[in-house]
Amino acid sequence: LSDRLNKIFDNLRRRGKLSEADVDAVMREVRLALLEADVHYSVVKDFVARVRARSIGAEVSKALNPAQQVIKIVNEEMIGTLGEPARLNLAGPKPWLVMIVGLQGSGKTTAAAKLARLLRSQGERVMLVAADPYRPAAIKQLQTLGERVGVPVFTEDGVNPPELAAHAFDQARKGGYTVVILDTAGRSQLDDQLMDELRSISRKVTPTDTLLVIDSMIGQEALHVAEGFRDTVSLTGLVLTKMDGDSRGGAAISIRSVTGVPIKFLSTGEGVDALESYDPRRLASRILGMGDVIGLIEKAEAAYDEQSARDQAKKMMKGDFTLEDFAQQLRQIRKMGPFQQILDMLPGNLGQAARNIDPKDAEKSLKVTEAILSSMTQAERHDPDILNASRRRRIARGSGTEVQDVNRILKQFRETQRMVKTLQKTGGRGMPRMFG
Ligand code: GDP
Ligand code: MG
Repeated sequence: LSDRLNKIFDNLRRRGKLSEADVDAVMREVRLALLEADVHYSVVKDFVARVRARSIGAEVSKALNPAQQVIKIVNEEMIGTLGEPARLNLAGPKPWLVMIVGLQGSGKTTAAAKLARLLRSQGERVMLVAADPYRPAAIKQLQTLGERVGVPVFTEDGVNPPELAAHAFDQARKGGYTVVILDTAGRSQLDDQLMDELRSISRKVTPTDTLLVIDSMIGQEALHVAEGFRDTVSLTGLVLTKMDGDSRGGAAISIRSVTGVPIKFLSTGEGVDALESYDPRRLASRILGMGDVIGLIEKAEAAYDEQSARDQAKKMMKGDFTLEDFAQQLRQIRKMGPFQQILDMLPGNLGQAARNIDPKDAEKSLKVTEAILSSMTQAERHDPDILNASRRRRIARGSGTEVQDVNRILKQFRETQRMVKTLQKTGGRGMPRMFG
């Protein structure tokens, strides 16, 4: 796929706004990539339409070509749709109750044990419940896993699952447990009996969390399954299993975008410690299957920033450093983050000196400076000599500052210019890092 995309990248080297043709050329590849990742076709269709609408007419950044710009938007949209990792809803009176639902073989029992292990390691007192009393093998499996993670397993013969869940909850409360994890039965397909049973359990014990476990290998069918469960019990999170396999995890985006249920965990193996909270960037790159392409785009952008910093430094050395450059430098400083962070990055002596600066004062004066510079006309920024008293008054008014502030900034600018001249004589030794 990357090869095909790179060909498109080479063919499109124009600048300006994205045209329909630019966008469509790339979206054909994106559509294929998503279908190959087993994203449901209806979701693919919506996604492609959304990205297309956002892309056409969008400005192409100077660092990228049009195709790269489209992919950047695709990637951002994908990360946004996948959503931030969500935590369990552990709040309210204890014991908290986590109900695990899903089709048979999806990895529920394994996930229940992994979750028990995780919560136990966080200091919770955890009880596992085998709410699948019809299959002795299922109970045995949970008991084995429970032993492995050091968590007791509640079972009871001859009662239906809702009763069993209620009894387990009672016992947990009396025993001072803080979390109860219900491992429920699954069927190989959605059926009414399974759904009725889950509904009754949910009514009886009101779970704090109801997690749907989905096998990432099941492909397009995942969406249908998720909708079935969502219409029965109120899901609070997804656990995507078997992410250690070949699947690109397209199910995640299908389910997430149609049901809005947040992804809470990824399961990445059969071992009891193979449970991860997921990273939307990583998952997006896996679903798109364009990891290298996205890496290239990020590199291109970084290289461009570096180049423009270097150009500016060169310009300064030649002596035509204007207020325009001054303004651009401030914008670059802004992009680096909050002032405290910038101060922390300063090396050696500068760092020492910076310790005497109050970041709040610095932040404020940076804002004042920016406001003043942006109230100037371009002509004024190119030639500050034309700034007579009435122009200075106008600028002060426009930026909500005083004439003294404007004078101070101009003085600072003159000093910087003088410093630049000195630097030119010394051949650039001792040049502050931020200029290049
Ligand atoms: P349940 O029927 O939903 O309770 O599913 P199980 O927890 O019994 O899991 C079914 C099979 O999938 C078992 O063989 C598990 O070891 C395996 N399994 C579960 N989660 C994962 C995973 O994340 N990766 C891999 N490779 N296997 C898994
Ligand atoms: Mg099971």
